[in-house]
Amino acid sequence: MNVEKELREKGVEILRFTWVGLDGYIRSKGAYIDHVDELLKTGIGLTMAMMSFTPMDYISPYGTFGPQDEDVFLTPDLNTLSVFPPSAIVICNLYKHGNPWNYDPRSILIKTIEKAKEQYDFDFKSAFEIEFYLTKDKKPLDDARCFDPSAFYNNQIIPEIAKTLRQINIEPIRIIKEYGPGQYEFDIMHKDALRSADEVVIFKEVARQVASKHGVEANFMPKPFNKLAGSGLHLNISLWKDNQNLFYSHNDKYGLSDLAYNFIAGLLEHAKALTAIASPTINSYKRLVPGSWAPTKITYGYNNKSAMIRIPTPYPGMSQLDRRIEYRVPDPSTNPYLLLTAVIEAGLDGIERGLKPPEAVNENAYYRKDIDDIPRNLREALNELRKDTKLVERIGKEIIGEFIKVKLAEVEEYESLVTDWEYEVYRRL
Ligand code: GLU
Ligand code: MG
Ligand code: MG
Repeated sequence: MNVEKELREKGVEILRFTWVGLDGYIRSKGAYIDHVDELLKTGIGLTMAMMSFTPMDYISPYGTFGPQDEDVFLTPDLNTLSVFPPSAIVICNLYKHGNPWNYDPRSILIKTIEKAKEQYDFDFKSAFEIEFYLTKDKKPLDDARCFDPSAFYNNQIIPEIAKTLRQINIEPIRIIKEYGPGQYEFDIMHKDALRSADEVVIFKEVARQVASKHGVEANFMPKPFNKLAGSGLHLNISLWKDNQNLFYSHNDKYGLSDLAYNFIAGLLEHAKALTAIASPTINSYKRLVPGSWAPTKITYGYNNKSAMIRIPTPYPGMSQLDRRIEYRVPDPSTNPYLLLTAVIEAGLDGIERGLKPPEAVNENAYYRKDIDDIPRNLREALNELRKDTKLVERIGKEIIGEFIKVKLAEVEEYESLVTDWEYEVYRRL
């Protein structure tokens, strides 16, 4: 592939080497077109001191590295090359001394996928439902309600995002005006797990660019506004072998195999720890509240939007392709690579131990006192993750240790701040 030629044809001058740190931020370093081919071969170095905490930043991609640590290298995966002028990006793995770096979420996901393939000949397919707000001057762009048709003609942003995605091989299926004013959802076609994680990153870049062209922002915060719907990043996943969906069985009323139930049981078993990865910001927990269609209880149910795992209802003519489970905790602030790694490892643990889930809950789960809660805040979730040594070992002690450090620093910073609410409510006590 001649990348330089492709960029010149499309009039793009800078290729951005892109990666996602443990804090979930998308970052990139640009390669100027005259040097693109050379830099694609050598990679681009990243100074570790700049990757760690600085006094200027509340958040950082990594926690404890300093000037004494050697550079890591942004090593591009050319399969991810996405040109949507004026942008062009290529997603990178982080390498150190020529090997995948143990702290790099994308490298860790690749390792998990390869291990499942080697041990069991398993392949995972996944599909994300991406919710976000369009905002102007930090307010929702429109006052359209759920399913309002105006979203499709009032401005060109939504159709333009869809068209741009299609040009770079990302396939939107359903496009929805969501509950919140200015809130939208794109459901993306399932692909192999690594590609679907990449597509979340590329989607955000495309949506931000198109919005910005129209003087608008695409906002992926889990809960950007008081009293308005939060934004989720529901993850649909299925397990395949020799082109057969192993989650599918026509013997079960809901079309699920024993293996699928084992996988669900694995997610329930590790649910509290998983929450720290799926909902990794302070803000995430303001989304996970009763009545929001974001989950608060560790349970699963058939077509149950109040449950942590939803089994979409089978319908006449449903093929094995459609048989999947939907994990509803994730929000768009998650690192999609770490998320998929954690979900696959938790599910595989369920399969390896032959775990069986309890009865499904097919009613409103929010007020069921007998069901355990999802952690209520980030500090609690991180603590659960730290305690779940089995899952931590499966994912990798180094990367999870670093993730917890990065995230705890965020919690401590936040907990030290006095909010407007506190001042209002407490000033006359
Ligand atoms: N916005 C909800 C969430 O934060 C999801 C609504 C829906 O089910 O589409 O998860
Ligand atoms: Mg939705
Ligand atoms: Mg959904």
